[in-house]
Parts: sequence; structure tokens; C-alpha cells
Amino acid sequence: MTIHSIFITILFLSVGRAHNNFPSRSIYKMLVVQKYGGTSVANPERIKHVASRVAEYWEKGNKVVVVVSAMSGVTDSLIKLAKDIIPTPNRREMDVLLATGEQTTIALMAMALHSLGVPAVSLTGPQAGIVTDRSHSTAKIRNITPSRMRKYLAEDYVVIVAGFQGNTEIGDITTLGRGGSDLTAIALAAALKADLCQIYTDVEGVYTADPRVVPNAKKLDEISYDEMLELSSLGAKVMQSRSVEFAKKFEVIFEVRSSMNNKPGTIVKEETKSMEDVVVRGISIDKNQAKITLVRMPDKPGSAARTFKALGAASINVDMIIQNNSPETQNTATDISFTVDKPLLKRAIDVLADIKSSTGFAEIAQDDHIAKISIVGVGMKSHSGVAAMLFGALADAGINIEMISTSEIKISIIVNMDKADEALRVIHAAFFPDTKK
Ligand code: ASP
Ligand code: MG
Repeated sequence: MTIHSIFITILFLSVGRAHNNFPSRSIYKMLVVQKYGGTSVANPERIKHVASRVAEYWEKGNKVVVVVSAMSGVTDSLIKLAKDIIPTPNRREMDVLLATGEQTTIALMAMALHSLGVPAVSLTGPQAGIVTDRSHSTAKIRNITPSRMRKYLAEDYVVIVAGFQGNTEIGDITTLGRGGSDLTAIALAAALKADLCQIYTDVEGVYTADPRVVPNAKKLDEISYDEMLELSSLGAKVMQSRSVEFAKKFEVIFEVRSSMNNKPGTIVKEETKSMEDVVVRGISIDKNQAKITLVRMPDKPGSAARTFKALGAASINVDMIIQNNSPETQNTATDISFTVDKPLLKRAIDVLADIKSSTGFAEIAQDDHIAKISIVGVGMKSHSGVAAMLFGALADAGINIEMISTSEIKISIIVNMDKADEALRVIHAAFFPDTKK
């Protein structure tokens, strides 16, 4: 026997023994999918802390699948690294690069569990059976073949899966868009028919408003998918919107909670009748918007179509739109205002300048010193007077409203950035009077 093969034999024996300490439990309590975001796995201490939480669940007799993000800041620094090489990196190669962030965390997490004597195995997205389309950097999940995960779970392993990644049918690595580890967790919960899906993050749940701006904001016990979607796409930023859409489609009930303590978080689920008793569930603020006004646009068919077609062709998403033709201009011209994401403002202005003469508007005005505040609640469908209450709160505080838009479960307003935080606080006080200090 060579030294090399002796070493391998010892290795096998010790792995075998470690495993024998944990006889396979054919009866288990629950299948739990837990996702830990970048801040929860930011350094070795936090990874060990998460491992001890996972171990606790496992020791209670649950099957556990852990989805992890890259350690906080890693994805951003990988992007920077790529851009230091070439300004617009090839998207396929970018995905190969970014996927390493999560791959680092799964290995470290498996090691942390091993150090606690828990059998654990790491799987990349592709190894976990996640197949996506070919749209690199924003890939959509096509299907998941969970057989390998199931096999490990049956053998009582904790299965640790890299979030945010999958592969195409021919095996190219893809990523699911920023924040995509949430999507991985929800999709795995659906594919494995998990009993519980928990999204661990650095906040204790979803709040009535951003607690950093409104200190007496309340944590919600529950929220509907639709409310969550409005709040997350409008700046609450608790979770990636696509993952909430996915959860809604596949009816995955999940809980958003903190990895730093043991407090229950917020349950996200399908709307129930009793949810409508609450008129406003939450208030979001978005400081990443800019307003554009096209002054004296010819008031005739085709003006708006031409404008928004040009913006659409440049992949510029438009959010709120208002148009008002006044008798003063004999209905021949109209001002049209809309908002775009702030980073896209310059591009939008360039596109609009190009079509100025063909469309016939007189001027382009812009304002990036604005904020959008939205009140959201499924109860708005069945309650009246909500808009009046919102506008009243702002009027009492002497805050001017620049734009308004409404949908079935949401009212959004634009105010000057200097007044944004104050506006959020007075609106919160109006709709959540019991939390007033
Ligand atoms: N690491 C990826 C990102 O930073 C995915 C995630 O964290 O969910 O966007
Ligand atoms: Mg994240």
C-alpha cells in the first residue's frame, strides 16, 4: 500500500464514521428551504452563525435546503473587476464570473456545517438541476430537476445550493438578475414542495414604511403577494420582484425574517378576505426617479405613441404618465409629464431630443430632485376616501404634490426630494395613527 492510498483509505474511513453518527431518519418533521442573503453571510463569523441556525433546524429532525447569496459586496466587486478589463464585458463570460460569488459561499457554508458535525453538501445551481433560458444576466428558470437534491435529502444531508444561477440546456452558466437568490429559494421551494420557505435577511420583515425614515413603522405579520410586489418594485427593496411574482404564480407561501434573531417575520401569501379590512398595508418611497415634461406637445393622435415608442425602443421604462390639455391652448397643445429611473434620465433626454422636431413639442423640461411615495393596500378596492386622506395629510403639512397616479391597490404621488422624508412621515401618521409617538 502506498502512502497515497493509505491516506485515501483514512479519509474514507473518517467520512464514513462522521456519517454514521447521523443515521438516516426516514421520518422527518418538515422540508424547509432557507435563503440567506449577502449580509447574513458577509464574513466567516456570520457564516458560522448561519450554520449554527441551520444545524438547529436539522437537529430538530427537519430536512433543510439552504440557498445562499454571494458574501455582501462580492458581486459588485466582481462586476467592477470585469469593467476594469473591458467596458462592456461579454454577457456569457460575465455570468461565468458572477456565479463564482455564490459558489464561494456554498463551499464555506458546507465547511461550517461540517465543523458542527452536520453532514452537508454544496451544489451549484446547475448541479441542483436548475435549467434556464439563454438570456445571460437575466435568465428565466425553465425547469428544475430536483432528483439530486432529493437523493441527498433522503440521505439526511443538509443541501446547500448556490443562489442566483442555473445553466442552459447545453450547460452554459447563467444568472437570474440581481437579487436572484431569492428566486432560487422560491423556485426550489416550489419544485421540492417544501413545507416552509424562509427568506433570511438583515431586516426583521416587511414594515409599514422604511424604519430608517419612519422610526415608529410597524412590522407586518402578513402581506399579500400583490401588496408585496407593489412595495418591492416601488423601493421597499426587501426582495427581488421577480421572485415574488414567481411565488404568486406557484402559490409558494414564504416568510421574510431576520437572520440575527429569532423573532417571527412577515408571511407573504395569497390575499385573504380579512386582509381587505386594512386599507393601507404599507407606504414605500422611491428616490430613484426623475421627471420629464414635454412642453406644448401637439394635441393630436400619434404624439404620445411616437414618444413612448422611441423610449421603448431604447429600453427606457416609463412609470407615471400624466397629460393635461387645457382650454387655454384651445386644445391644440398639451403638456405631457412622466417619470423614468434616474440613471436612465440622460439617455431618455437624448432619445427625446432626437424626435423633438418630428413630434413637434416645444421644449423638454427635466427634474431629478423628486421622490415617489406610494400607499399600497388591497383594502383600497373596497374603501373610499383614501385619496382624500392622503392629500389632506400633505396639505396639512404644506407639502405640494407634483404628480398623482392611481391603480386598484395603490396611489402614488411625486413630491420634491427635500420634502420626501417628511411627506412619508406625515402620510404614515395619517394612515397608522396608533403608531404615532
Ligand atoms: N449575489 C447576487 C446579487 O448581489 C444575487 C443575490 O444576492 O441574490 O445580486
Ligand atoms: Mg440580495
